[in-house]
Amino acid sequence: MTSRNLILQGIPASPGIVLGRAKVLAERLESQPYCCLLYSPEEINWELDRFLEAVEQAEADLFALRDALPPDYQEHAHLLDLQILLLKERMIFQETQRLIQEERYNAEWALFQAWQKVRELFQGIGDPYIKGRIQDVEEVYRRLQSNLAGKEAWNLSGEEPVILVARDLSPAEATQMTSSQVLGFITERGGRTSHTAIIAQSLEITAVVGVDFATREIASGDQLIMDGLTGQIILDPDEALRCSYQARKKDFEAFKGEVALSSNQPAITLDDYPTQILANIELPEEVILGLKYGADGVGLLRTEFIYLRQRHLPTEEELFEDYRRVVEAMAPRVVTIRTLYIGGDKFLSHLEYAPEMNPALGLRAIRFCLKEQNIFRTQLKAILRASACGRVRVMFPLISSVRELQEARHLLNTVKQELQESGVPFDAQLPAGAMIEVPAAVTLAHLLAREADFFSIGTNDLIQYALAIDRGNKQVADMYQPLHPAVMRMIREVVHAARVARIPVAMCGEMAGDPLYIPVLLGLGVAELSMNAMAIPMAKHIIRMITSGEARKIARHALRLVTVEEVNDYVAREMNRRFPEIFRFVHALAANLEP
Ligand code: PEP
Ligand code: MG
Repeated sequence: MTSRNLILQGIPASPGIVLGRAKVLAERLESQPYCCLLYSPEEINWELDRFLEAVEQAEADLFALRDALPPDYQEHAHLLDLQILLLKERMIFQETQRLIQEERYNAEWALFQAWQKVRELFQGIGDPYIKGRIQDVEEVYRRLQSNLAGKEAWNLSGEEPVILVARDLSPAEATQMTSSQVLGFITERGGRTSHTAIIAQSLEITAVVGVDFATREIASGDQLIMDGLTGQIILDPDEALRCSYQARKKDFEAFKGEVALSSNQPAITLDDYPTQILANIELPEEVILGLKYGADGVGLLRTEFIYLRQRHLPTEEELFEDYRRVVEAMAPRVVTIRTLYIGGDKFLSHLEYAPEMNPALGLRAIRFCLKEQNIFRTQLKAILRASACGRVRVMFPLISSVRELQEARHLLNTVKQELQESGVPFDAQLPAGAMIEVPAAVTLAHLLAREADFFSIGTNDLIQYALAIDRGNKQVADMYQPLHPAVMRMIREVVHAARVARIPVAMCGEMAGDPLYIPVLLGLGVAELSMNAMAIPMAKHIIRMITSGEARKIARHALRLVTVEEVNDYVAREMNRRFPEIFRFVHALAANLEP
């Protein structure tokens, strides 16, 4: 058989290069549930018993999986706990029983109908985290269907390590992977920021997501090369290509090891200009990653994930415990806690929301908190209490006016007063900052700087609002350009306002962790960068190989260019010239792939 060298392109989600055989998980979904109507009460009872047994079996399997999690993966046990809870979730558990009793459906069909309703309910939700929750329900659904069919749930033990290929993988499925069984995984759905991708990174398993038609093009047993740096999958590669990727893999791993050796060293430029490289984390468990990769602190704790992972509003005590864990683990380094970023595309199932035509421009982040002041005050209390356990900063997201910042600070002060009166310890000097992620905040930066103790530029949203490009819309993804001249000028303006007011300025959007942009950002005067923990070693490596003068020169030149194409071209050339050892890994081996 001749080799095909067929290339599929996806989104790189967790770096690495692996070669191996595919195992396609979509096969699990092929047996469609069938419908048959029940005639007698005995039949109905029989089907109800089958369903309850399937649930019991699933519960026992999930508990067993949870208990067998290796110590390193214990941080992900909550995902299995969530699935255990979902087994008894009303919309699946009770609805399936109702359909068996009232509609006289067999158990498989009743369960399928209940699942369809849940799926419809979630359709159209764009938020990756909420999507992650749908994946958990789907995982529970699949498990129950295979129990009803008498099949074993997904189990890889005993197989040689494979590259998993699936339409989608839930975070819970990702936690079941170990590098001895799974070389990497490829999914048709998902984005760079999905929870499954985050877990892949924390388990250091190579992942490529968003690969169209992966389960149609790839069959179990096919030979694959998967490049988690470029997002390329090569199906059925020839010998020459296999050799070239083996060499690339060896090279990349050696380079990664070399870079990691110094990731605990400070990030200082060649001319002794100090910078701070911090970690972005979503859940308290991820603080371990920040420490592993040498973070100088946490520059962004996205607190909404703590709210989203449970079914009730967290209490002050629960929040405090979560924040305390992060703060104590990071001490004496700083932990920047961002207040709740709910609304828009992330919502809490236990609260009522008015429908919004344009949720990205709606009641979200600080706007939501200033409206729901009880929720906000509870969070502020927990943050203040945690500030007694280490070095904490608080920051308010989506600030678009001075008034909003003043109101948020006013609430912070009233909460401080209450704690003081009750004798509860906290850091009276707790710095309170503003996130700059709305163009209005850029224009007002010099005024906001008088009210803020620091700025943190959230480029994910700033770019979306400045360029009018929905950050989650694939159709316009190529227009989402961090080096757009308008964006660079905005960053320059914010840095200038912060300098005049003598407050620090950080950046915590994805732009901060991309090696390509780091010298430009340094040159623009952003010396505190917060990023995905795995990106830290490379960021530090780049900073240690450049002088602040060179970085300023690159930024100055980039600012003189008129179009984003010119800027991209200039920066790419400049970075390739200065850091060929890094950028050779990011550029696809396109030349080798010509048919
Ligand atoms: C940002 O907008 O850059 C940011 C860090 O916030 P998030 O990605 O959570 O919206
Ligand atoms: Mg944001």
